[in-house]
Amino acid sequence: MSIRELTANMSATVLIVDDDPGARLLIGTALEMAGFRVTTAADGASALDEFRARPVDCVILDVVMPGMSGFDVCSALRLLPECVHLPILMQTSLDDMESVNRAYEAGATDFSSKGINPMLLAQRVKFLVRAKQTQDQLRESEARIRYLAYYDPLTALPNRARLLQILEQHVAWATPRHRGIALLMLDVENFSRINDTQGQAVGDALLKEIANRLQFCVRDTHKPDEKPGNVDSQEINDWVARTGADEFALALPGVATVDAAQLVARRVQLALERPFAFAQQEIPLSASIGVTLFPGDAANAEALLKNAEAAMHHAKKSGQTGVEFFKKSISARAAKHLSLEADLRKALERQEFSLHYQPRLALSDLRVEAVEALLRWHHPQRGFVSPDEFVPLAEQSGLIVEIGDWVLREACAQARRWRDAGAPKRQVAVNVSGVQFRDGSLVRRVSNAIDLAGIDSRTIELEFTEGALIEYSSAVNKAVKSLKDLGVATALDDFGTGYSSMSYLRHFPIDTLKIDRIFVRDIASKKAGNAPLVDAIIAMAKSLGLATVAEGVETDAQWQYLRDRDATQVQGFLFCRPLATADLERWHADWLHSHQMRIESVA
Ligand code: C2E
Ligand code: MG
Ligand code: MG
Repeated sequence: MSIRELTANMSATVLIVDDDPGARLLIGTALEMAGFRVTTAADGASALDEFRARPVDCVILDVVMPGMSGFDVCSALRLLPECVHLPILMQTSLDDMESVNRAYEAGATDFSSKGINPMLLAQRVKFLVRAKQTQDQLRESEARIRYLAYYDPLTALPNRARLLQILEQHVAWATPRHRGIALLMLDVENFSRINDTQGQAVGDALLKEIANRLQFCVRDTHKPDEKPGNVDSQEINDWVARTGADEFALALPGVATVDAAQLVARRVQLALERPFAFAQQEIPLSASIGVTLFPGDAANAEALLKNAEAAMHHAKKSGQTGVEFFKKSISARAAKHLSLEADLRKALERQEFSLHYQPRLALSDLRVEAVEALLRWHHPQRGFVSPDEFVPLAEQSGLIVEIGDWVLREACAQARRWRDAGAPKRQVAVNVSGVQFRDGSLVRRVSNAIDLAGIDSRTIELEFTEGALIEYSSAVNKAVKSLKDLGVATALDDFGTGYSSMSYLRHFPIDTLKIDRIFVRDIASKKAGNAPLVDAIIAMAKSLGLATVAEGVETDAQWQYLRDRDATQVQGFLFCRPLATADLERWHADWLHSHQMRIESVA
């Protein structure tokens, strides 16, 4: 017998039920020799008592006993919940088929005749116990699989699939009672950035703490009109679920009005606003919350979940973290997004994308130093779709990685065509989304596109937004360094719209800041609200050794203002709109011509 078998048997206890003391002794000794622990009972009633007091791993049961027969004891044992899978071996001197059948009917696992060699019997018990242990393990892993299908192992909260079942039960409970349900869904802002910068251990701890706090925001008591223990008492509890990486939901049966739901939403916000303390650091959090109400907004669980998600995305998009209640207009928009997303999947294949180019001019002499490649989607039915509409969709679905690859290859190929045609030398700036940094393959993709086109890597500049830098800071940091080694320049787009500080920027070896057009818009107006900000950005960029590009220059006054402040480049409709390549060449030829005139006229 191996050590493993020995220890397996050692931990197993067998109960021998027999009115014959000689039989108990013989079998008991054989079992102990085989490594089992043994307990005994002389009749059925004390066997049941003994089992209740100390459950065992196997029972050997004599059939003919005074008082309860072995069959009765077997049936009684099977009624106990912990006995459902217990191996019960019945011993009968009545070798006939009828008692064998009765034994099985009573629930016996196996039977043997009474005269069997006790050593052989011990082997049989060993087999039964081991089979049970294997089955127990199997049942355990099945239970674990079932658990994982419906629960989140990190927080032990129900997952999305389980939430759907819970909501179905809530709806079934609320409908006949004319009661309402509120469903809140929340997205933790900036969670991926925290995970990225602080490490997964902190991220996990944070999620657990969020789960904890959320559970304090809900009631776990039963409603007063339901007696505890009622069949549906469980279903009418409030529930917290984890529906995504940084998404949670609160299902609140009985919460029927906007005011009541608003109250809970506020409670949730307050709970998350208290800073989370980890490793001597305080991490403040905020959440965007979407709310939907049953039965007003939807009549079934699935629609409720979709509504809450749509409202949450709406809350997230609106910029300020806040609470958004579901409205029909949100679901119409969600439906439009879905169909647009489906079309977006086909757009690459159908060659519906193209690139337009908008010049960036040196502020000093108005020479075209670079052009920014801007993606255009010509939808077969809808016509032109704005990148402001489809780029976020492509980001959400991950399609941006493939589309972004196309943009990179096409922009590099165009740079090559310009070189071959002897066009004026200019850098080509390509926009990349934060999502493209996520899997760490961006630098390889950029370098492939450059090699494929056979151009100098210094021709290419990548623009990414301040938002991308904040959300994927560690991936961006790594990529920017490798891009620098590769000779590819980088620019921070839409600067001023995020919340990164100048000192934060020091960690990223970027080359250029692009000042967002909302700041440029009113620099030269009477209000001039943003002028000091633009001045500060230009001055600080200079101190960090960064170039500046002012975006969205539309008026002469704005241009003059920037010229006095010594920004590096300007870009905007005042000079040129984004154009298809042929138009761009025509414009550029004209520009060179008139530009000379202009310089002359200024001089
Ligand atoms: P962006 O990178 O900040 O691009 C500049 C946007 O400002 C362009 O809008 C451009 O047409 C517009 N613009 C330029 N000058 C002026 C002006 O004087 N006044 C006004 N009002 N607007 C001006 P567009 O082409 O609609 O692109 C919008 C955004 O979509 C881009 O903002 C960029 O974030 C994104 N995008 C465009 N192409 C791509 C791409 O290939 N990949 C990625 N990831 N995003 C892209
Ligand atoms: Mg850009
Ligand atoms: Mg921009």
